[in-house]
Amino acid sequence: MSFELLGLKAELLSAVQAQGYTIPTPVQAKTIPVILEGRDVLAGAQTGTGKTAAFTLPMLQLLSADSNIGARGRAPRALVLTPTRELAAQVAESVRTYGKNLRLNSAVVFGGVGINPQIDALKRGVDILVATPGRLLDHAGQGTVNLSKVEILVLDEADRMLDMGFIHDIKRIMKLLPAKRQNLLFSATYNDEVKRLSDGILHNPTQVEVARRNTAAETVSQVVHPVGQTRKRELLSHLIKEGDWQQALVFTRTKHGANRLATQLLQDGINSTAIHGNKSQAARTKALADFKKGSVRILVATDIAARGLDIDSLPHVVNFDLPHVAEDYVHRIGRTGRAGASGVALSLVAHEERDLLRGIQKLLGRDIPVVEVEGFKQDSGRAHSQTPSGSRQDRRPHDANSKGRKPSGFGNRPSARSFEKKDRNYQR
Ligand code: AMP
Repeated sequence: MSFELLGLKAELLSAVQAQGYTIPTPVQAKTIPVILEGRDVLAGAQTGTGKTAAFTLPMLQLLSADSNIGARGRAPRALVLTPTRELAAQVAESVRTYGKNLRLNSAVVFGGVGINPQIDALKRGVDILVATPGRLLDHAGQGTVNLSKVEILVLDEADRMLDMGFIHDIKRIMKLLPAKRQNLLFSATYNDEVKRLSDGILHNPTQVEVARRNTAAETVSQVVHPVGQTRKRELLSHLIKEGDWQQALVFTRTKHGANRLATQLLQDGINSTAIHGNKSQAARTKALADFKKGSVRILVATDIAARGLDIDSLPHVVNFDLPHVAEDYVHRIGRTGRAGASGVALSLVAHEERDLLRGIQKLLGRDIPVVEVEGFKQDSGRAHSQTPSGSRQDRRPHDANSKGRKPSGFGNRPSARSFEKKDRNYQR
């Protein structure tokens, strides 16, 4: 399968080619032709599957067919809603990247930054608007955005928007849109809430499900390192130095924990910075930019802040603390091994976290291999009982994903239901 066969126009094909992409990912191959036909789509695809291009490319193509392009002061014809500022910024960047050979204008609006430049951009005229719900409603309230011309609506990471409590904002936004439009909903998981949302918004959608990337790509090796809580920082510094890691994304449960760890790693001579919700948007953007260009070696993040981070070929993701919500583990490890690159997800697990680990393993449908690092064995109890004998830090969990049962069902959470039939239209 090539991009040419998907029916995309030359301007888009050359933009895709400029990115070095030659083969569409499964979600792209399945959704692009359907979106080009003008149908609604309900897509089960995690971040890292290439979902952004899957909706951006056909959206650009559909919008570019209009002869009115370039008219000053025009209202948005496509609206992409995302749960986080970072994801909004990334989607907007993709829109610019893939649309660089077309005459379409785009803008992104999210909170935490000045509203005036956004108002100016909207005044100039925008074809594609990427937004987080709260700031979009601010604009709507002030009358600085006109949503009555929206032809295509995209809800990106719909499940996370619901998790973050955006349902009322989404409902308010829906009331501002014209009834007749194309709707695309992307979600990593499918539960009752997502179903209710999609039932209320989508019309006779084509359903697309792609294998969860951490199971299908088989590129993320997972490993648990048992360690006492108080020695986690020491172990992390040891792993970074001994393994000569170039870069890693490290997750902590709390904002305070992220700050403290970043400071401690700096004291250990490891260039680190923290990214979390208490930091200003400018500080978050700078931290991410520094990390992307390689001037920061370790980015310490909380779950919400890390949502939507798109960092190419990140080799290591570390769970410094296990997340309370097992599903966040899957989101976290999705930060490595993206788009075919290989990656390792390491979890530093204290005795107190063994129940959390059990919950994660239940969700995954299998155990994560345990590797004790010499000198860091836990003093009290164990993370769990599966320690391979004689295992050492240098044992590489290459085959971590090929062992055991595979996680089942779209969503990878116990309550998540699998889409009944793949790639089939279903009636509401
Ligand atoms: P997403 O799921 O949209 O967050 O995309 C994950 C990553 O895959 C991004 O870094 C994209 O730039 C990259 N990507 C998107 N499409 C392709 C493709 N067809 N081939 C290789 N990489 C891709």
